[in-house]
Amino acid sequence: MFRFADELGPFKIIHIYEPSIDLKAVLVVDNIARGPALGGVRIAPDVSAEECFRLARAMTLKNAAADLPYGGGKIVVYGDPKMPFEKKSQLLRALAGALRYTEEYIFAPDMGTDEICMACIKDEIGRVVGLPCEMGGIPLDEVGATGWGLFNATEVALKYCDFELKGARVVIQGFGAVGKHAARFLVRKGAVLVGVADSRGAVHNPEGLDVDALIALKNEGKNVFEYPEGKKLASDEIVSVPCDIWIPAARPDVINGNNVHLLDTKLVVEGANIPLTGEAEKILYDKGILYVPDFIANAGGVICAASEHQKTTRPIVFGLIEEKVRSNTEQVLEASKTRGILPREAAFELAIKRVNRAMKYRRWSIFSSAPGFV
Ligand code: NAD
Repeated sequence: MFRFADELGPFKIIHIYEPSIDLKAVLVVDNIARGPALGGVRIAPDVSAEECFRLARAMTLKNAAADLPYGGGKIVVYGDPKMPFEKKSQLLRALAGALRYTEEYIFAPDMGTDEICMACIKDEIGRVVGLPCEMGGIPLDEVGATGWGLFNATEVALKYCDFELKGARVVIQGFGAVGKHAARFLVRKGAVLVGVADSRGAVHNPEGLDVDALIALKNEGKNVFEYPEGKKLASDEIVSVPCDIWIPAARPDVINGNNVHLLDTKLVVEGANIPLTGEAEKILYDKGILYVPDFIANAGGVICAASEHQKTTRPIVFGLIEEKVRSNTEQVLEASKTRGILPREAAFELAIKRVNRAMKYRRWSIFSSAPGFV
């Protein structure tokens, strides 16, 4: 477990196991110098402790970059995200019970979990955000908080590109909570969605795809390749669809050293967490293809979750996301351009400065033992 340890964390790694219901999960609480760890619960069949650590670290950086009083953490639960709700509720209730006294972690939704899942956790232990409206929540996936942030990051990034949003061809990998809202906001401002993929397949149409029709299809439980007008592709063929803006909004490491050369785009705006490997980002940079790093571009969801935790009202949240994501994207891309460093390096510098400042206030650098810390 200590192979992940460095000067930032992780503070704790907890393995949660209950064979009677086939619960297998890992919690990583990374650096909590800024406050309790805020990061989602992910359900997927192929997660790992290492992925959980990397995602928790991404949350430390994301929360610091967005200047939120939270640290980073993540939970991965091994399982099929499409399992029946009764089964999911049983796993999540057991998980919450097992972590009842792990007060430095606040539950939130991620891939495979939603506000109804969060309601189950609220019912068990209370320490959760991303709740349904009826329980005082701001359902971040329903309102499209992360998609709104991605739209704003894209608009700012376009100042550093040689094309404009109107008429720009957009491809999105992953048509869930993040992907569909990003598509909606971008198309509303004149972009053309030409390709989209989900886990089962993809569709490509250079003339444009109808976002509302795609959303309706998904709501009916169908897959994007069932969209009637366009060329059907295998899911991973979405990587090489020609476009101006390519948005990963699914899984980690989808663009890596082996396939980065297939991308035919001018700008990558990272909607998913850690969707590109370091090697892939360096290759893009060397080729002059701009990218906006994940924890800068996709912070909308956690800004919304933090706002809910601090009882901010819903109308203020979209303004907050816009302000924070735009300002961070501008700072990162400007530093990258003027100092000749990777956008990832510029983003890391911005976040780490904020984490380091908080660590100086703590007796034990990465955590606090103060009562009522949460
Ligand atoms: P989701 O479960 O709602 O949607 C995920 C989508 O990705 C689905 O359409 C699924 O079919 C598709 N997908 C899965 N594997 C795929 C593959 N191999 N190829 C193509 N498509 C695939 O999840 P989400 O909430 O939209 O999150 C997507 C990503 O964005 C995750 O990495 C998540 O951590 C990150 N993220 C989410 C939020 C948020 O607010 N929900 C915030 C920040 C970052």
